[in-house]
Amino acid sequence: MVKRLLIANRGEIACRIIRTARRMGVETIAVFSDADAGALHVRMADGAVHIGPSPASESYLDGAKIIAAAKESGADAIHPGFGFLSENAQFAQAVMDAGLTWVGPDPASIEAMGLKDAAKRLMADAGVPVTPGYMGEDQSLDRLISAADEIGYPVLIKAVAGGGGKGMRRVERKEDFAAALESCKREAKAAFGDDRVLIEKYITRPRHIEVQVFGDRNGNVVHLFERDCSVQRRHQKVIEEAPAPGMDAATREAICAAAVRAAQAVDYVGAGTVEFIADASDGLRADRVWFMEMNTRLQVEHPVTEEITGVDLVEWQLRIAAGEHLPKSQEDLRFSGWSVEARLYAEDPARDFMPSTGRLEIFDLPEGVRVETGVEQGDAITSFYDPMIAKLIATGETREQAVDRLRAACEAVAIYPVKTNAAFLARVLGNAEFRAGGVDTGFIERHGEALTRSGEPSAQVLELAAQSFLPEGQGPWQRLVGFRMNAEQRREVRMRYDGRLISVALPQEPPSPLEGEGMGMRGALSPPHQPGYMRKLSTPLIRPLRGHLLPQGEKGSMPQAPRIIRRTPHQTLIAHLGEIFAFTTDHTEATHSASAGDGVITAPIPGKISAITAQEGQAVAKGDTLLILEAMKMEYTLSAPFDGAVEEVTAAVGDQVTEGAVLVRIGEEGR
Ligand code: ADP
Repeated sequence: MVKRLLIANRGEIACRIIRTARRMGVETIAVFSDADAGALHVRMADGAVHIGPSPASESYLDGAKIIAAAKESGADAIHPGFGFLSENAQFAQAVMDAGLTWVGPDPASIEAMGLKDAAKRLMADAGVPVTPGYMGEDQSLDRLISAADEIGYPVLIKAVAGGGGKGMRRVERKEDFAAALESCKREAKAAFGDDRVLIEKYITRPRHIEVQVFGDRNGNVVHLFERDCSVQRRHQKVIEEAPAPGMDAATREAICAAAVRAAQAVDYVGAGTVEFIADASDGLRADRVWFMEMNTRLQVEHPVTEEITGVDLVEWQLRIAAGEHLPKSQEDLRFSGWSVEARLYAEDPARDFMPSTGRLEIFDLPEGVRVETGVEQGDAITSFYDPMIAKLIATGETREQAVDRLRAACEAVAIYPVKTNAAFLARVLGNAEFRAGGVDTGFIERHGEALTRSGEPSAQVLELAAQSFLPEGQGPWQRLVGFRMNAEQRREVRMRYDGRLISVALPQEPPSPLEGEGMGMRGALSPPHQPGYMRKLSTPLIRPLRGHLLPQGEKGSMPQAPRIIRRTPHQTLIAHLGEIFAFTTDHTEATHSASAGDGVITAPIPGKISAITAQEGQAVAKGDTLLILEAMKMEYTLSAPFDGAVEEVTAAVGDQVTEGAVLVRIGEEGR
């Protein structure tokens, strides 16, 4: 068995491998770049070696440095994880040449599957059905156009060296072919240094079905059933599950047998995945499933297979690398239940899924599901690596149960200030079409906005935020900022959300036996911190002030209530359905009430002046923005307390100011 394993990777997969290695009594060595000096995988491993600067090309992709690190640390084997050097045949060879054990297939197997056209030819020869198309050597435009004609439009142009969804163009009409080919070649040349292409029939309702296979050095190959990874965004997997919805036993048998033949054709050793594309316009049918490619490594979504088969795939990888036989025969392999995985990314779905970086000030992942992550609270997400921060895996007896559990888990995610796709994932898992099973790869695109929009805070969220800004430890009558004896008995709280001023009028709670006194009045006293207070409140009245926020009705049944995840005197963060809503106190009003009399605008909290709109001598109306103060990553807009003229601006943009510093003076007209 391997004694000391170097893991040539980072993040969640490095942590995942360390866990199994530790259980098996194998020592672990992590490698890390500058950016990962304090990373979780480094903290978890028994030893760690620094391999260079933050860019992957100078660290995790530098094979020589990794092999040197293995030598230096006395490791006897290298596990590549996925991504980085995992499918690099030269690296695999170099590892073996250095006298180390390579936890993966032989370099020749990697090479055989490395180029899509050669792999497809090989598979066709081995009797594995391949997607109809052209995979010839002749790359002339004429030959490719006539190939597309023969196949019939729409067609897909694919870079033979492609991967990760790059280098693919769908072409609808012959007239567009030449231009699409040109752009595909350009992208392929830049990304892979190889601009050769193949042409495939474009499958219009495609499902992505893949089969987990395993081979040993004795020529045995087994499969561990299929996974469905059809929920994709721009050809990248988002949700994966095992087994595949709508797969009958005969179709499963046919696909899995084809996958085993594919692995045998390249003398496959270790863990691999054979990817198929299925034309699902008429359900899953064995004669409409074609080989797409083989990934010669462990797959990101391997946990769903582990969950339904009870096999630890990393353990099997280590055993096979050590020369052991496959731990189970095909007859001994069974699956039960259903497992679904969601990929949690640091990105902002509302802004076209732009990656989001920063420190994970709050990193609260749900319990009750399997979590694979490489970060902890306080760690930073940098722009150097993949923005995936965690995988959440839920398993149940039925698909419905697993999906429900995963949805609840995604809704319970609370991460701040880094943005995540948690709410988007929860919406996908709650979508009726997805829940019916068997969606095709166009699902996310079809539903677009409904899945990606960021939600406005619900009435429930606003109410909770308003509650949080009521000062504690005082009787309610002292807190009646907007209370008027002859008005409806509501307490008004003003706060800011997303730059907008919001006023929430909380209804008064029912009379209580306690009496309170304040502001020259007497009344019923029932402090907000009294248990049960919040449940007694009815829906608050929400009134937009200067923004565009409109009251929102609750949609459907809300399975989870909003919760406060952080509360400071000036800011309240509320997590609800996978989203985080940040509210701040309304300092305009605070300044107003404190200094309306003299027109002196002071800094409500220490911070930096990020913008000044007030100019000396300028006339301003009550509520006009004077300047913006930035503090604790939030912006505070300070505005004119009354109509008047700007007498003096004492702050400058970029100034770091202390609390109470005088920033602007306003003189009241006619004073
Ligand atoms: P990559 O190596 O870049 O991941 P793949 O060949 O695995 O590329 O294809 C990625 C995805 O592209 C598939 O999961 C599927 O959604 C889509 N795709 C690939 N081939 C076809 C095809 N012939 N017709 C329709 N969609 C396809």
